[in-house]
Amino acid sequence: MPEGITADPTSAAHIIADRIDREGPIPLGDYMAIANDCYYASKDPFGEDGDFVTAPEISQMFGEIIGIWLADLWLRKGSPENCHYVELGPGRGTLAKDALRTMARFDCTPTVHFLESSPVLKAKQAQLHPDAKWHRDIASLPEDGPLMIVANEFFDALPIEQFVATSGGWRRQMIARDRSKFVTIPSDEAVETQISGTMSGFPEGTILERSPVSVELAGNLANRLAKQGGTLLLIDYGYTRPGTGSTLQAIKEHMPISPFDSPGTSDLTAHVDFHTLANTARTRLLAVHGPAEQGQWLKSLGIDQRADALIAASPKQADNIRAAHLRLTHADEMGCLFRVMAATPIGWPDPEGFSYGED
Ligand code: SAH
Repeated sequence: MPEGITADPTSAAHIIADRIDREGPIPLGDYMAIANDCYYASKDPFGEDGDFVTAPEISQMFGEIIGIWLADLWLRKGSPENCHYVELGPGRGTLAKDALRTMARFDCTPTVHFLESSPVLKAKQAQLHPDAKWHRDIASLPEDGPLMIVANEFFDALPIEQFVATSGGWRRQMIARDRSKFVTIPSDEAVETQISGTMSGFPEGTILERSPVSVELAGNLANRLAKQGGTLLLIDYGYTRPGTGSTLQAIKEHMPISPFDSPGTSDLTAHVDFHTLANTARTRLLAVHGPAEQGQWLKSLGIDQRADALIAASPKQADNIRAAHLRLTHADEMGCLFRVMAATPIGWPDPEGFSYGED
């Protein structure tokens, strides 16, 4: 194998190249899964010194508002016992820390469960949450009470598949090797799926994205909520109507790079398909709320007042608190790009913050 790909046998590039050499081109979803698995396993990517910054790392206000939102829902449901806080991909555990501290003020003290694949991040989470339980699969989550499930910037990291319109029909986007580089190449055979049946008339080269892994996970979580009660709160960037085009991107040290350069060393993400995830929840008879814009959602739940209170308590921090508030809520920052969507089963109250939502 050429240099660059083979340097480290445990690197994503090596694992991917090895598979392609043995099996031929691999689906984009497999490439993304291997790259992100290696990426998150290798380091803590968050913060100004890392690759990207997430909302809970910007300010405690973000997790606190989520805590208030969850506690409010729990109280209005009549404070059910045996509640479980479940976070998908909790990063450093910061959001959970801020949310759970806030919930405890309302006597809402659920057990804590994390779905996490990275041993490095699991160790970080354990420092803040020594009593948490970790899961590799949602099948092992408790079955004896409502689940309060939170996913911030989690679904965007799950693998997507792409389909390309060619003169020979829809082809699956595959990853092949061109010497030491990874390149995309349409599958030899046309795909025989829903896509070929229902999606005709697109010009050649059109790309459609799907995330079967996300849909399966959302469906399984929705089944659990329908059975056990609780809620799913999903916060991410994404689209609310079906669309075309590639949204795959790679971020390294806060800058975009090619998703096909040195996999496993950058954060590979794709926009979340809120439309399909909402429909997935609805087919399990869950009510879907939103998606709403993150800025509006946070404001309707009192982030302005929370910022004022923090400034009053620590006037020296006023500039930092104002800057964080702006970053989380302003339309030119995270305020509009990020969206908030919730799902609740029959018999649960409507959650706060969605009265202004888009359809
Ligand atoms: N929610 C956190 C971190 C977002 S980054 C925050 O807002 O700061 C994505 C998180 O999901 C990381 O913790 C990563 O290790 C985890 N992750 C990514 N893919 C995963 C998978 N397939 N299964 C479990 N965890 C995963």
